[in-house]
This record gives sequence, structure tokens and C-alpha cells, in this order.
Amino acid sequence: MEEREFGFSLFKEAVMVRHIGFRRVEELRSFLVNKVPKDVYYSCAYYERPTEEMENKGWLGADLIFDIDADHISTPCKKMHDLWICKECGQMGRGVEPNACPVCGSTKLNSSSWPCEVCLESAKREMIKLVDFMMDDFGFSPDELRIYFSGHRGYHLHVESEVIKEIGQNERKEIVDYLQAVGIDLKYHPFSQRGSLDEKGWGGRIARAIYEFMLRPNLAQDLARLGLNKKAIANITENRDKIIENWKEHGPWNIIRGVGFSTWEKIAYFSLKNQAANIDSVVTTDIHRLIRMGGTLHGKTGFKKVEVPLMSIESFNPFNDAVAFKEDYITIYVLESPKFVLKDESYGPYKDCKVEVPVAVAILLLSKGLARLED
Ligand SMILES: [Zn+2]
Ligand SMILES: [Zn+2]
Repeated sequence: MEEREFGFSLFKEAVMVRHIGFRRVEELRSFLVNKVPKDVYYSCAYYERPTEEMENKGWLGADLIFDIDADHISTPCKKMHDLWICKECGQMGRGVEPNACPVCGSTKLNSSSWPCEVCLESAKREMIKLVDFMMDDFGFSPDELRIYFSGHRGYHLHVESEVIKEIGQNERKEIVDYLQAVGIDLKYHPFSQRGSLDEKGWGGRIARAIYEFMLRPNLAQDLARLGLNKKAIANITENRDKIIENWKEHGPWNIIRGVGFSTWEKIAYFSLKNQAANIDSVVTTDIHRLIRMGGTLHGKTGFKKVEVPLMSIESFNPFNDAVAFKEDYITIYVLESPKFVLKDESYGPYKDCKVEVPVAVAILLLSKGLARLED
């Protein structure tokens, strides 16, 4: 703790207070009680002198951090639930924010992305993939991995291990490239000989990618999109069952006339994207980054950044497990809000109305700028 830099954003001033250090938990606690900050961060890095200016801190190492954010995952629901609001005239719209307000022309727009169930579920799937990489490919043990719900639209993974502490920016970039299959060359993967579905590393991932591709409902159409000729497409679709069946032995290679290695390679390159981990590379390669502290509230939702035990990630539900406020009720005026579920209760959709809701619901809508307090 004494080697970490802490940073805070406050409710009053719109500035980040940083380069703060604490020697003991009690010091941090009394700081939080006195200042009541909006967001609490600490450095992934360890420093000799965390309170000095950046160049004098004396970098000792850093945890390996991964950020998975629904903003980077294309989900179809985004254009339904993401809103932008003009700061000048109050005009609202759905989907991606325009360059300027279509009503008053102001460029001062606030966009408000919604922490929706579908988006968060797809972020969770990415996290499960990432954990698989960390354990199977990199050999980290479960107790070196700490998963958190970010408190907003995603999940964080903190890898805290002496082995990776001192690796620099370039090495972290290599890890990112591996996870995202950047520069992967199938020549160097023995998938043509074995292609076993449960093989470790990218070999197995490539095999699974092709296997899953073969199960697609519109296989012929998808093969055409890859630029395969009519004959090859017919050969593959007519022999689909045989191809899938053959995986028990050695994969699909050389069992169909006219479908050679280069065809399978095309399918592999296309479909392996689904096997890659959709992480924010900027976060992982930044060895000085401030990250939200576990157990604190996210200023955009009022949800808690909570640790998710590896064993129970499947059943983790942020709309139950990250809710921080008790069941008191409060009246707010809601400008607009999609329908959502919190603590098993359904709310909304709301549009220009006064509602009495639990504090957690009110904080979420107020933090999102979608509501204001009523007295
Ligand atoms: Zn406007
Ligand atoms: Zn969504």
C-alpha cells in the first residue's frame, strides 16, 4: 500500500487530485471520510516515492491490468439505450452522439452509455475468455488473478504476481498482441496436423474457431463472404457432417477433394477473431495507470466495484451483487430512461415523469444525468 499512488476525483471541482500516498489503511479511511470523493483510484504501479512528481517517483514495477469494457464490444442494443444530451439546450437523442446538437448547434454534448444486461453479459463472456488465456496459456494460478466488476460497463482483471511485476510497456504490448491474435501466422501453428479441439493455446483455439464456423446456420452464405468459389462452398456444405464427425480423429484436413489447406486457412483467419480477448490495449500497456479501487463506488452509476470470485463468475449479476445502497425510497424526476432490472425489481422505461424509487435506482439515474432530485 505504501508504494502505491492514490488519486481522487471530487464532487465539487472537476479535477483529479493525485500523487497522494498512504502508509496505513486507517490514513486512507480517514481521508475518504473527510473528503468524500466521487471516485477513488490507485496506481497499478509500485513506487519508491509515490507522492513525488512522475519523473521522481522511482518506478519499481506494476500489476498487469486488463480492462474489458462493453464500449469496445459491438452489441446491437447500444443504439437503443445509449443517449446523448445537449448541455446548452437539453436536446436528447439515441445512439452514437452527433458532432453537434441538431437543434442549437452546440458541440457541448454529454453522452450517456447505459450499463445494460446484454452488454454486461457480453463483457463477462470476454472476461471468461481472458481468464482462460491467463491460466492455460500464461500459467497463472487462480490466486494471482483478481476479477472485478468495474462498477459501470465492464470487468477488470488484476494480475498480481512477482513474475510480471517488472515487465515494461513493450512486453505488455506483446501480451496484448498474443491475446488479440495480432500477427498470428498459421504456418507456425500445427493445426493442420492435429487440430484437436482441446489442444492448449492458439492451436486449440483455431480448431475450435473452425469447428464453430462449421456449425453456423448460414454456412454457405458465410463461406461466400470469405471469397470461396462455388465449388469449394458446395464441397464443404455437402460434407458438413463428415467434417464435424472427422474432428474426433484429426480435424477436417484432406478429407474433402478440392478443399485444401489455404481454404481452411481463410476460414481460420476469419473466425479466430471470436477466440481473441476483447481488451482495451491502452490500459494494459500503461505502466503508470490509475485504476479504480475495489470496494469503492463508480461515479457514473453508484454501483460498487466489487471483486468477483473466479468460481462464481457465471452466476455473478452486477444488478444484484454491485448494488451499494439500502432499500430506502426517494422521489426523482426522470427525463428519460430505458427499462432495467435492479435487485430483481423492474423499473422504467421512464420519460418526463416523477417517480418514487429505491435510493440505488435514484443514484443510478442521477449519476447518469438522466434524472434530477425532486423535493
Ligand atoms: Zn442543443
Ligand atoms: Zn446493451
